[in-house]
Amino acid sequence: MNIHGFVFDATIPFVDLWRFGKRIDPLKRVLEEREGWDPERLRSWQVERLRDILVHCDRHVPFYRRRFREVGFDPSRFDDPSQLEVVPALTKDDIRAHAHELFAEGLSRRGIKRGNTGGSTGVPTPFFLSREEAAWFEAVVRRCYDWLGIRPGDRIVKIAGLTYWKDWRLPFIQFVNTYFRNLRSLPAPYLSDDLMDSYILTLNQMRAPVLYGYPSAIELLARRMIETGRKVPSVRVVWTSSETLLDHQRALVREAFGIEPFDGYGGAETPIAIECRAHQGLHVFQHAKYVEVVDERGRAVPPGRTGRVLVTQFFNRVWPMVRYDLGDLAEWMPDGDPCPCGVRLPKFRRIHGRTGDILVTPDGRRVTIANVTLVFGSIHDQVRAYQLYQDRPDAIEVRIVPTRSFTTATETHIERSLRRFLGDEVHLVFRHVDDIELTPAGKRRILVCTLPGVGSRPSAGSPSGRVEPVQEKP
Ligand SMILES: [Zn+2]
Repeated sequence: MNIHGFVFDATIPFVDLWRFGKRIDPLKRVLEEREGWDPERLRSWQVERLRDILVHCDRHVPFYRRRFREVGFDPSRFDDPSQLEVVPALTKDDIRAHAHELFAEGLSRRGIKRGNTGGSTGVPTPFFLSREEAAWFEAVVRRCYDWLGIRPGDRIVKIAGLTYWKDWRLPFIQFVNTYFRNLRSLPAPYLSDDLMDSYILTLNQMRAPVLYGYPSAIELLARRMIETGRKVPSVRVVWTSSETLLDHQRALVREAFGIEPFDGYGGAETPIAIECRAHQGLHVFQHAKYVEVVDERGRAVPPGRTGRVLVTQFFNRVWPMVRYDLGDLAEWMPDGDPCPCGVRLPKFRRIHGRTGDILVTPDGRRVTIANVTLVFGSIHDQVRAYQLYQDRPDAIEVRIVPTRSFTTATETHIERSLRRFLGDEVHLVFRHVDDIELTPAGKRRILVCTLPGVGSRPSAGSPSGRVEPVQEKP
């Protein structure tokens, strides 16, 4: 163990007491035990936790009391998760309109942590975490460290559009994280070979074992490493989050670093799932919360079908989230053989990204991100970055940051491939640009649609999709 690990181990119990009012290690051990539970045991534990929090919401939280009455839901009789399906999802619009009614009556708000999701729509959505929920959040993140093979004190370098870690308002926490926990940040606010070159150099100087970041940022770095033939041998864990990790990005990480990346999924408000060392889907944190995948009517969808991700917190009694809609789509993996990693928690096969990321053609086709990334994934040596932008019904602007290998043939190929699912009725306008604008959360979005009633309404710039190596502020 290095000096940072030693200092971390020696000081963290006190830091935890100060931040969460309790130690995190015991919670982590509880989670570890639950990871091995069989599905029946996990389910009955979840039903108990759900009943407890739902009864609490009915008695003490005005928003839910009203909502439960409206749909005739009686939490005291709750004994099966399917009964929850009558309760409408909690949307970001609900929260913006009723945030104050989501506080439980008669509970102290001392120590509560406030955060925000959303942003590019100009309307951030607040959320609040009780100290108890924040403690379990932290415990889940530290279990992720174990799963990924990250040791206390290992240097973690974050490469992404924004530097959350420098944003911390509490200088003490910042100090703990940058020094004791050995976290460093490399912002990637724009695309340039020079910046990537300097980061390859910095990573080697830092001898960082863990690289964390948005797939699009890691992709740029990996691609530059391959182009220049340079390596970063110290990196043994690549941890991506915030955006869907695409197949070609995985391949680039494998080629550049010689390792398989770990994909994480969750939001600043709650971590949801992460890939284990088997790299066959993402284990969902059902041992700390209740995660559903539902259809348009709020009913569970079976494995293999895509649905919206809803989450219910168990320990946030001060400001509970019940069936909170993250604005993302995911798909359960069918029950099969136990995961080779030994963890028995259910898995997502895929995260399909934000439900708002969609284009609509004049003949009514709705195009999601998956089709588009397939087209560009195969020509990533010719297109550095891209975005499909739509602000009128009959045209889509194809914004491209070309590499030197880009030719007119590339453009013809893109147009022909896009037409296969966009059809012939929409006008395609190609535009070469120097960069793709970042969202406030520091992401480059692949699809942007500003048409009324279609658009990228839910949390366009939301940090949803993130399981951070540390909790961002709240
Ligand atoms: Zn596993």
